[in-house]
Amino acid sequence: MNIIITGATKGIGRALVELFATKGWNVAFCARTASDVEALQRDLQQRFPTQQFLGQAVDMSLKQPVLDFAQNVVNQWKTIDVLVNNAGVFTPCRLSDPANESAFIRMMDTNLYSAYYMTQAILPAMQAAQSGHIFNMCSIASFMAYDSYSVSKFALLGFSKVLREELKTQHIRVTAVMPGATLTPSWDGVDLPKERFMQPEDVAATVWHCYELSKHTVVEEIVLRPQLGDI
Ligand code: NAP
Repeated sequence: MNIIITGATKGIGRALVELFATKGWNVAFCARTASDVEALQRDLQQRFPTQQFLGQAVDMSLKQPVLDFAQNVVNQWKTIDVLVNNAGVFTPCRLSDPANESAFIRMMDTNLYSAYYMTQAILPAMQAAQSGHIFNMCSIASFMAYDSYSVSKFALLGFSKVLREELKTQHIRVTAVMPGATLTPSWDGVDLPKERFMQPEDVAATVWHCYELSKHTVVEEIVLRPQLGDI
């Protein structure tokens, strides 16, 4: 079985790589930092020598590298069972300040358009198989207007909902995952007790449980929160 996970050297993406590798899957993954990608590739290949790992340094905020990454994976595997559009950055800025235009557009490119291009590129393989599962890593910021990050995550949830409608008769499942605060490097420097966060392994396990339901059922949306509530 083959899975693609974007933004996967740290945090939730890394937890997904670990879980699916442990389940015996081949895993294609990416991140921007080439040394991290290479280190993870080596580590996985050593621990799971009979499985295939396709790690690539990709900046998911850029259209052509996204398409090249997807094409590279499809050329090698032909079938893609699961795509997790996970790559995302939390770089909020004030929408009302024109000085933030490029930062805002970069966040939209990373958090929304990466999923759009990646999905377009792998869909033909899923459509040919009449099977597949696409997870979009949304957020509780997909329905709560915190700051400009919410714009990207509201949009990603909208993308998921529409994609779900488009693909339902093609037997391709679409799930929007909406985690609350999860203890990953994206929270580095924030001085809060660990108990206020979820663990990335729990988000990964949720993805796995949604996947392993029978093909007659799709979990369309899932909201996860720290037991003690939002931060
Ligand atoms: P993280 O710990 O910051 O890890 C992000 C991963 O994505 C890293 O491997 C990073 O590697 C990669 N990445 C970042 N920008 C990229 C780009 N432009 N192209 C390719 N790879 C990129 O993030 P996380 O907290 O696990 O978040 C993962 C997803 O969950 C995001 O979509 C985030 O919005 C969402 N989420 C997180 C939380 C939370 O509380 N942590 C809550 C709800 C939703 P490089 O830096 O080397 O590229």
